[in-house]
Amino acid sequence: MLDFIQSGPEILVIGGGLLGLEIARALSMRGLSGVSIVEVFNRLLPRQLDEIGAKELQTKLEKMGIRFFLGKEVSQIIGNGSVNRVLFKDGQGVSAGAVIIASGVKPRTDLALTSGLKTSRGVLVDDYLRTSQSRVYAAGDVTEHRGKVYGLIPAAFDQARTLAYNLCGQNKKYEGTIPSNTLKVAGIYLTAIGMVTAEGNEYEIITKHIPESGIYKKLILKNEVVVGAIWLGTKQGVQEISRLIQSGKKVTRYKDEILEESFDFSRIFQE
Ligand SMILES: Cc1cc2nc3c(=O)[nH]c(=O)nc-3n(C[C@H](O)[C@H](O)[C@H](O)COP(=O)(O)OP(=O)(O)OC[C@H]3O[C@@H](n4cnc5c(N)ncnc54)[C@H](O)[C@@H]3O)c2cc1C
Repeated sequence: MLDFIQSGPEILVIGGGLLGLEIARALSMRGLSGVSIVEVFNRLLPRQLDEIGAKELQTKLEKMGIRFFLGKEVSQIIGNGSVNRVLFKDGQGVSAGAVIIASGVKPRTDLALTSGLKTSRGVLVDDYLRTSQSRVYAAGDVTEHRGKVYGLIPAAFDQARTLAYNLCGQNKKYEGTIPSNTLKVAGIYLTAIGMVTAEGNEYEIITKHIPESGIYKKLILKNEVVVGAIWLGTKQGVQEISRLIQSGKKVTRYKDEILEESFDFSRIFQE
């Protein structure tokens, strides 16, 4: 890819998820001016951000020179021996000298399926990481546990740890992993943990948006406990908020001030 980009081609990245954004920015930092991203959803990072956060992030990336086609689905890649144009379902087309597909991962279940294991989106496992066949276990990206296919390192580690206990004769349950993602784009701080959107009376949402400084913070609370967070434009407090979500501590007395940059999280942990 590095050799290829010497000629300065226009590049279209298919997929506005974490990896799509990271590669687009990496290419633009190498001096490519024609880097675009096409995303089928009408906003970036649909799994990690809500609408306000996505818009804020888009503005930051546009300032870095990346163009976006949102709400567009690629239908054809056109060229004779090499790419020269990409068509969207709505008939619009863009020229491109290269295409990078970053449109998600999904477990390859064929081997498991032909071996007689139950599969759905991934290889189905129970809370003990057992598949549908005795003495066959699974952990990591290939698994589907309680309807979730994680595709994340922390989940793979948690599952591997629990499975190791179980193989050694201890009955340990895997209860799931709170997903946490950090965008690795220089100059942009973004971490999303747990739930990022919520509907229903059982949830309370607290936000702080400072457009001038590009800061957007959001907490989702259930029964006074933080169950999800978006932290964009600042890294101040991100480790603490992650720890807070893991701890399950109530934040009742701090709701008015918890999103302030100067908030001291040790007050909650010391309670
Ligand atoms: C570009 C990229 C960036 C990522 N960045 C992050 C990140 O920042 N944070 C994060 O949490 N996660 C990230 N991930 C996801 C992370 O890599 C995975 O969640 C993690 O690697 C899962 O571990 P695993 O052991 O289940 O699978 P893998 O690491 O994929 O390992 C599976 C291994 O099994 C081998 N294998 C497959 N089939 C067979 C077979 N039939 N026989 C023998 N061997 C076989 C494969 O070759 C592979 O070596 C990223 C993934 C990608 C692709």
